[in-house]
Amino acid sequence: MVTSYYAAKRSWHPGELAIQRRLGYDEAMAGIWAAVDPFMPEQHQIFHATRLHFLPLAVLDDRGRPWTGIACGPDGQRGFVHVRNESSVRIDALTWPGDPLHEFQLDPGALVAGLGIEVSTRRRNKFAGHIMSSLRRDGGLLLDLNVDQALGNCPKYINVRNIAPPARTSAPTVEVLRRASPLSPAAIDLVHAADTFFLATTFASSDGTSHLGQNHRGGLPGFVRVLHGSTVVVPDFSGNRFMQSLGNIEASSLAGLAVPDFVTGDVLYLTGSARTLVGETAQKIMPRQSVVTLIDVQEWTLVRDALPVRQVPGTAVERSPYSPPVKYLAEDIVQKGEVSLSGVKLLLSSIDLHSEHDATFTFHVESSGKEKVDVRPGQAAIVDLSSLFGRNAYRHMAQTGAEKTLNDDGIRTWTISRFEPSSATDTSALLSLTIREKVDGSMTPKLLGLARRLASVRPELLTDTRPLDIRLDLVGVVGSFVLPEIVGKDGILSTGRPSRRLLWLAGGIGITPFLAMLRAIVSGSGNTDQPWDILLVVADKDVNIPLTLVSSVMATLPTSTLSSESALLRLRVYALSSQSPVTSTPALPPSVEIHQREGRLRETFFTDEGLRGDMSARSVFLCGGPGFERTAMNALAAVGIGAGDVRREGFNY
Ligand SMILES: Cc1cc2nc3c(=O)[nH]c(=O)nc-3n(C[C@H](O)[C@H](O)[C@H](O)COP(=O)(O)OP(=O)(O)OC[C@H]3O[C@@H](n4cnc5c(N)ncnc54)[C@H](O)[C@@H]3O)c2cc1C
Repeated sequence: MVTSYYAAKRSWHPGELAIQRRLGYDEAMAGIWAAVDPFMPEQHQIFHATRLHFLPLAVLDDRGRPWTGIACGPDGQRGFVHVRNESSVRIDALTWPGDPLHEFQLDPGALVAGLGIEVSTRRRNKFAGHIMSSLRRDGGLLLDLNVDQALGNCPKYINVRNIAPPARTSAPTVEVLRRASPLSPAAIDLVHAADTFFLATTFASSDGTSHLGQNHRGGLPGFVRVLHGSTVVVPDFSGNRFMQSLGNIEASSLAGLAVPDFVTGDVLYLTGSARTLVGETAQKIMPRQSVVTLIDVQEWTLVRDALPVRQVPGTAVERSPYSPPVKYLAEDIVQKGEVSLSGVKLLLSSIDLHSEHDATFTFHVESSGKEKVDVRPGQAAIVDLSSLFGRNAYRHMAQTGAEKTLNDDGIRTWTISRFEPSSATDTSALLSLTIREKVDGSMTPKLLGLARRLASVRPELLTDTRPLDIRLDLVGVVGSFVLPEIVGKDGILSTGRPSRRLLWLAGGIGITPFLAMLRAIVSGSGNTDQPWDILLVVADKDVNIPLTLVSSVMATLPTSTLSSESALLRLRVYALSSQSPVTSTPALPPSVEIHQREGRLRETFFTDEGLRGDMSARSVFLCGGPGFERTAMNALAAVGIGAGDVRREGFNY
């Protein structure tokens, strides 16, 4: 327990206790309320007075709803906050039409809360209190505040930006003033682009402990989602567990947001009714997110060119290393072609180790209920590995370099390199993931480590790992990097006569979607009299690995189609190896040509290889890391294939 003889609080309030209990933090947090000071420590006083370019302030409207207003110095400079003593602050601010500080009656005695935040250094300190007096003059506001709560906060999700007053701005323009829900498309776009917002909350009590809260939330751009145009969905990321903002929401069911765009200076303000969902109800709205706050927008305001400080042109944002990947709403996910699954297990059945760092893991798909797993060739599996490798215990902060592990849910995505649906004779489907170890990653070193250990101590188990009883959860299937017009579900060929001329470009482990597509084509090629003509360019440090994978797919080709004269599939492979020479050409049918090259893909590749004339009417698919993708796009452009004609998958989040 933190000891303080001068604590601002005597206990957590009922809302804070309720949310701490719902999340199971109440015992750990008992007594920690004493960390909230009843005055501004000297360090905070200096910080507010000298470091702030802007100051988000929580205030109430005439209906008692919280809004965040933003106070800035008249010229966007620091020094507009004057701290007279530990309890007394004067703010000499510029305000602009539309901002709650400009629009609302700020009477003496009204509640107020502030968040001093310096985005260039990730420092932030909160305070709360009352308005002593307010005076409007020349488009500005002189606000005297009494502070009776103060708390220093962690830098955890603050994205670092270099901000300064811009050289020139237009006058702020109010695009929308206190309009009822829904949000406009422009307002929704602003939310979906934001990596930062400010959250105002309120707690009302008859025992004299009423107060407002002003805080910050940050993440990757798009971490806040808008549902049906009228509900803002905020994922809760693991923090200090005080749960002051969510506690206020628990008690009041109200919240107000200001969402700034630091480049344009636009600010979206909104207020509404709010509630926090935990567990399954949260996951139904935002899959794989166990705590979300929903704010049903009641009123909103959009002001263009509002902020007198902006991100300095030409400077980049340094993202918080703690921010987890963006999670999307269930409804967005369906649109992105993702299918969420529950109760589907993957039983590890065999491991094929291709090299020290590459292996194919094959699983039997076990579906407990009505969930049927459908996979289109090229799609990826979303797998929860926490049952195998465990979940991280709670830690508030981590050492440099280990920050991302704090929010790691153990969920990873890999292309399904092979999928064999269940059949009448074989009741469970088979699914393979071909995984390359990411040496600085957290999950792939463990998976490949498992494969290597087995290979050295129990190699006989590699061909049948079922006795190990390793089960993972298949939580979704995702991806639109498929052959939609050619191959249907479960690899069944469509009956139309689309182009069967394909160009596939694979960088490194980017070969995996093509393995699935090739398998579908190979297994279906006997059903059509129209031959396939596939040009595969694959580049890897050691190209023997993708070549072996391709040859194992080709080995499944029906023998009747193996001879070159009657070939229904013509496959030409250009294999580029940048570090290891091609050691042996794997056994391949005669209709497969292999052209081995040393070195990386070059932008002149197609011309150098005399392939320029062979590019026409090919559907082009590209999968590889950023460097490979860049070169491949330039190589394609050099033979007249533009970005709009290339389907791409980068294995990015
Ligand atoms: C569509 C797609 C297909 C892919 N196919 C393949 C493939 O066939 N073979 C291959 O080797 N690699 C593939 N990858 C890349 C693969 O996902 C990464 O190599 C793997 O996540 C690395 O995990 P790690 O723990 O070792 O690395 P880390 O660096 O520890 O993890 C990667 C980061 O991504 C986050 N993350 C990863 N997956 C998810 C997820 N589903 N939800 C939330 N957060 C996540 C983690 O939190 C972490 O921050 C694919 C990626 C995508 C997006």
